[in-house]
Amino acid sequence: MEIAGITARRGETVFGYVNVGYTMGRLPIDIPINILQGHEDGPTLMVTAAVHGNEVIGSISINKLVRELDPNDIRGTLVLVPVVNTSAFEFDRRDTEWDSTILNRVGKGKKEGTPTEMLAYRLYHDILPLGDFWIDIHSGDAGSYVYYTIYDCDVPDADQAQTSREMALAFGLEQITAKTPWKDAKIDLGIPTIVPEIGGGSDFLQNGEQQIETCCNGITNVMKYLGMMEGDLVLESPTATIWDGHSEIVNGHHGGIMEIIKKRGETIEKGEVFGKIYHPYSGELLATIDAPASGTMLNSGVLWPIVYPNQWLSLLGDKMEDVNICEELNRDNA
Ligand SMILES: [Zn+2]
Repeated sequence: MEIAGITARRGETVFGYVNVGYTMGRLPIDIPINILQGHEDGPTLMVTAAVHGNEVIGSISINKLVRELDPNDIRGTLVLVPVVNTSAFEFDRRDTEWDSTILNRVGKGKKEGTPTEMLAYRLYHDILPLGDFWIDIHSGDAGSYVYYTIYDCDVPDADQAQTSREMALAFGLEQITAKTPWKDAKIDLGIPTIVPEIGGGSDFLQNGEQQIETCCNGITNVMKYLGMMEGDLVLESPTATIWDGHSEIVNGHHGGIMEIIKKRGETIEKGEVFGKIYHPYSGELLATIDAPASGTMLNSGVLWPIVYPNQWLSLLGDKMEDVNICEELNRDNA
């Protein structure tokens, strides 16, 4: 496998940088890449993390896998990108430092564009299309926590949708979201794709090791499902629940201290109070945040009580189905 001059031969793990362009001050903008070239031919799996620079659970997990996986135990090629947006990562922010733009809000980018547009262009034209399958790992940042795998059940190609669904089941999280309200963030490269959203937030203090372990298991589970590795799947639960994640809860124009009334897993009716916003100094009640639709509070949202105007807070969905993972994937381990 060769990606923009980085070449890995059979049995090798190779690290390098793909240049995407330059900043205003002519500093290089690069995407770091690890290629693990297996001992025999097989599929190519692309795994990216930190498209949003402060979502680092996938980055830490990828680094662990690079240290631990032996390419001689792999069929095919594993391409691991620990940090897509390096300036966002270095400055602990969601968007690119150089132009304050969020990477998955510029579509497939522009060859001659802003730093973010060039990043997207190189990623979506020269790197990811070399893969047969794609896992794009997101997570909470320091103030939020998420735990589910997204796949898109509405892509035009039914086979692609079914394989994406099976990858989501194999990844092994108990919660799967087959629909989301985030249409403008959607990138369809025509290959089966999943977006695991794993961990983050203050939960990292207590459960960080488990977040990393679950993420690493998810990647190797998908490799097992694709025939790139031997072994049983390591699942959170033998069954998965698939959700239609249809509505976001977003803060109104009052920032302040938020008290969350409805917890994850509870149901809420349209117009019912999700949370209350208090004045941070006088303590007075400023506003309530009402649910925009009826549904179940999904495993997604902010943890920190200080919130800003128009800040995204949580996701609501309806259950589509419960699935026995091994039964659908025709595997005998639980
Ligand atoms: Zn993200």
